[in-house]
Amino acid sequence: MSVTIDLADVTHRYDPGGPASLDRVSLRVAAGTITTILGPSGCGKSTMLAVIAGTRPADAGALHFDGRAMDDVPAAERGVGMVLQSPFLFPHLSVGENVGFGLAARGVSRRGRRAEVERWLGRVGLDGTADRRPDTLSGGQQQRVALVRALAHSPDVLLLDEPLASLDPHVRSRMQDLIRSLVDETGVTAIMVTHDRTEALALGDRTAVMLDGRMAAEDAPSEVFARPGRREVAEFLGVSTFLSGTAARGRLTTPAGVFACAALGDAAGPRTLAIRPERVRLSEVPAENSLRCRIVEVRFRGEHWEYLADTPLGGVRGLAATAPVQGGATNVVLPDAALFPVA
Ligand code: ADP
Ligand code: MG
Repeated sequence: MSVTIDLADVTHRYDPGGPASLDRVSLRVAAGTITTILGPSGCGKSTMLAVIAGTRPADAGALHFDGRAMDDVPAAERGVGMVLQSPFLFPHLSVGENVGFGLAARGVSRRGRRAEVERWLGRVGLDGTADRRPDTLSGGQQQRVALVRALAHSPDVLLLDEPLASLDPHVRSRMQDLIRSLVDETGVTAIMVTHDRTEALALGDRTAVMLDGRMAAEDAPSEVFARPGRREVAEFLGVSTFLSGTAARGRLTTPAGVFACAALGDAAGPRTLAIRPERVRLSEVPAENSLRCRIVEVRFRGEHWEYLADTPLGGVRGLAATAPVQGGATNVVLPDAALFPVA
């Protein structure tokens, strides 16, 4: 079973008269899809999940599951499964009892439970662990138990609040694949909060960015990445340097040169362009859309080198496959495709 989740102008305050932790948040998550949520700490991600789960009431706005208003539906009857950063398994119960916990409450027979629990544990590669204590499993294994415990209830909605945040990178990517295939198999509608932008963009059918209790962007991941719209969203997606000037006819005029940027369209007047670091390059000779620069910072980032080029228009951050010479004078090229307007 799966449902479409609809939040419309949902507002929530922890203290009446205090700041809004959710400020007219609207979000639609289509049945059977995953929406990933990115946003800085304290922007309201967990609060939004709590409103959807029914553990916090919204102060205003509407929440519907498949067109059905949820206001008067208690949390236990919403068909929501939840996975948090810590697995929170019951330490005194076996792994199998943890997974079967909700099934017992639903009146499934002991034998039926055992079969169901074995099936779920097998599905996540934990065959033969049913009789073990949770604390004999690794962190990643415990999180897989938490995941199937949530799914064993056959929820319509699966809410994942930074479920992979405390796992090692190699375990994380396997868990991402597992979450994707479990959502596809069960048809559950999922919302997953993550701090990791690569994870958000890779796993989401849609990705939303929240800032200060508001929905700042929501679209297909490739669209959010290509057109973040707001400067703060671009910053959250890994852009840290910008170019300001005056736009006209697809070009930005600055005190240090004119830059072609097709994404400006017919925008006119003062504009800011975000500079996508992976598209920036260095050139011995001046080129179109280039600036004289001096390399003032070089850092090894594992997959690439990250540098900061000091230009007459301020710092420009770029990525390179080989290490640029620290202190070297050169030209930094901002190809059209590296530039996009932000508000
Ligand atoms: P996130 O999950 O994005 O980090 P939260 O939803 O937990 O953010 O919090 C949103 C805002 O609400 C923050 O400013 C936080 O301090 C505040 N907040 C969270 N929980 C409570 C609470 N129980 N009482 C009062 N304020 C809270
Ligand atoms: Mg949170």
